[in-house]
Amino acid sequence: MPPRAPSASIDLDTLRLDDARALLSHAAQDGTPAPGEPPTAYLQRLIDGLCELSARDPLTGLANRRHFRALVDRAIETVARSGDSALLLLLDIDHFKAINDTHGHQAGDQVLRAVAACLTHCVRPMDTVARYGGEEFAVLLPNCQPLYGETVAERIRRAIEALAVATSPVLELRVTISIGGAFAPEWIRSTAELWLERADLQLYRAKREGRNRCAIDLPRQVSVSAEEKGLLFEHFGNEAEPAPAVVPQGKP
Ligand code: GH3
Ligand code: MG
Ligand code: MG
Repeated sequence: MPPRAPSASIDLDTLRLDDARALLSHAAQDGTPAPGEPPTAYLQRLIDGLCELSARDPLTGLANRRHFRALVDRAIETVARSGDSALLLLLDIDHFKAINDTHGHQAGDQVLRAVAACLTHCVRPMDTVARYGGEEFAVLLPNCQPLYGETVAERIRRAIEALAVATSPVLELRVTISIGGAFAPEWIRSTAELWLERADLQLYRAKREGRNRCAIDLPRQVSVSAEEKGLLFEHFGNEAEPAPAVVPQGKP
């Protein structure tokens, strides 16, 4: 019997093996036991497959927004403890609505998939590319020196500008992308919201200044917000964990 198509919403209390199999086969993963596969190994494979599925955007295969947010939270912890630089980029395709309106939603989907693949090729394996919303993407780059922030963003912008998406034998579509970026304030335990907000402000600036451009909020330009200062003092108040040395913003 072919696997049932997964329903739009699944009641976790009544989730059955068949549902797990159906979900996996829907995502083109093999949800059936391999010949001779021990039951525990099979179950583990199903669970791993479901975990993987829950972290991915179905259209592009990129990390989804929820998974990306969890990675941003983890990166903040690393930055707060090590002082390493980390860059967050938000990217939004310019005038994407016109692609849908002129060439149809399916062509729009093809463009989204091609942009996703291009972004993945532009960054290091240790970086994470996510689909953050409809035609919005996000990239998290741990261990990225402020010196290289603009170079990385500019490389991505140019790669998308050069991308030609063949949606039919006679039609190639091209898009541009606007990029906003922000470095995590070093040695400070900020929040994902504040970091994303900084990147979003820069994305807004890139759009306002004409689109198809990058705007990066460099660490030396970051002024620590009252909320972050509060978080810093909270940290000092925690005797169980020694506070790190505070290094001035914009250290090389
Ligand atoms: P801007 O340069 O200001 O970003 O303009 P825009 O047209 O890109 O922005 P707007 O927010 O007006 O339009 C975004 C469009 O993205 C509208 C929506 O239909 C489309 N979109 C969102 N998700 C998807 C999707 O999954 N597939 C397709 N094909 N289109 C999508
Ligand atoms: Mg948008
Ligand atoms: Mg857009």
